[in-house]
Amino acid sequence: MTKFTDLNLDKKVLQAIADAGYEEPTPIQAGAIPPALEGKDVLGIAQTGTGKTASFTLPLITLLGRGRARARMPRSLVLCPTRELAAQVAENFDAYTKYSKLTKALLIGGVSFKEQDQLIDRGVDVLIATPGRLLDHFERGKLLLTGVQIMVVDEADRMLDMGFIPDIERIFGLTPFTRQTLFFSATMAPEIERITNTFLSAPAKIEVARAATTSENITQSVVMFKASRKDREGTEKRKLLRALIDKEGDACTNAIIFCNRKSDVDICAKSLKKYGYNASPIHGDLDQSKRMETLDGFRNGTVKFLCASDVAARGLDIPNVSHVINFDVPGHAEDYVHRIGRTGRAGRKGTALMICVPRDEKNLADIEALVEQEVPRTENPLPQKQKTNKTDAVGAPEKSDAPKPETKEKSEAGPNKKRGRGGRGRKDHDAGPPQIGMGDHMPSFIALSFADRLNPKGENDPNPAFVSDET
Ligand code: AMP
Repeated sequence: MTKFTDLNLDKKVLQAIADAGYEEPTPIQAGAIPPALEGKDVLGIAQTGTGKTASFTLPLITLLGRGRARARMPRSLVLCPTRELAAQVAENFDAYTKYSKLTKALLIGGVSFKEQDQLIDRGVDVLIATPGRLLDHFERGKLLLTGVQIMVVDEADRMLDMGFIPDIERIFGLTPFTRQTLFFSATMAPEIERITNTFLSAPAKIEVARAATTSENITQSVVMFKASRKDREGTEKRKLLRALIDKEGDACTNAIIFCNRKSDVDICAKSLKKYGYNASPIHGDLDQSKRMETLDGFRNGTVKFLCASDVAARGLDIPNVSHVINFDVPGHAEDYVHRIGRTGRAGRKGTALMICVPRDEKNLADIEALVEQEVPRTENPLPQKQKTNKTDAVGAPEKSDAPKPETKEKSEAGPNKKRGRGGRGRKDHDAGPPQIGMGDHMPSFIALSFADRLNPKGENDPNPAFVSDET
């Protein structure tokens, strides 16, 4: 078994690692650190949770140990797709340079240029940046990349998803041809392969198993759920979400709840809060200080439920997440792997729950094909009643303190949003016990409750006893 002391890392770095409590290098660290220290290019195929941040930060600090930074000419550059990931790399860097004297600057959007300019002016050893903000600084003439000796690209596949590849290519072109490149991606899409072929020179390739293939730590399950009516789906899913959380009891110390759409992230957090759950949203439309505050709150336990979008949560290293809840089945199977990888980290146990509505079954099948296992089905914890009344189709009638109906959500409904209630509505009602007598020819309104018939649109119901459970 490789030890950190076998890896030729600087003594001060080893001391910081010991303080962090790491006993031995993870496979990506054992594989990537030696070639990186030899000055070779590295292609690491690994995702968050594998210890990949330290696999480039530790050699970077060791290599930069000698020499001094010059004004406006950083000696190394770490590119990250999101602000949060960049901030996290910066935190790692601070922890591992505890005993070293290296300087860094974090260039991310949402933070004033002035402060960042001052740091760059003084000269930094490591520049940690998102591509857009880095290029902004460059274009303002405040930054020279010709002194970059080592360039790190982290989460290249997410850069691809976010459309940053042209920026990355441009940044590569602004750095010296002689630089050393450490390049990390969870997957090797053809476009990523092309970039690595163009900009890396005879890299040492290290590939580590994906989180989904080492899932013994994560207990996965999915609830197959069909709303009593299409326009009730959001409300009923959120009710189911609360039931799933409640069912976990004390085992759920905190959770990241993933939604596919930003609007749903907000609705979900708002709804949970309304019902007394300590929840906050995080997504790309929130300003940077709010995102940081929410993340800090989640890390220190003042926020228990983090409702998140994929981009905002990607790569976040939050130790001790007991649960990941997929409020929506992700549209890309890969995202399932990334999402559930937020729990069960560093050998701990984790639980991943998911809600799957009928139209997501294809996506669920794609996930199962990717992870090469079936996600076990679990019972809906809500009492199942006969679907005779829209308000109690998934359990007891709604609370009388129900908030106002969700007009916003309606306009942001999923792919089926253009379908009217007509045909689909009847189909939904058919989900109950077989109709005897009129069979398929029964007009759908007959299957509706009295309240439904009084208020066929539902969402503008003046009587909150019959409307949705939250805003
Ligand atoms: P990363 O994949 O870089 O996001 O790291 C995932 C988590 O593993 C972080 O919380 C790190 O602090 C932790 N970690 C990194 N390297 C080690 C190690 N060698 N031993 C134990 N934990 C580690």
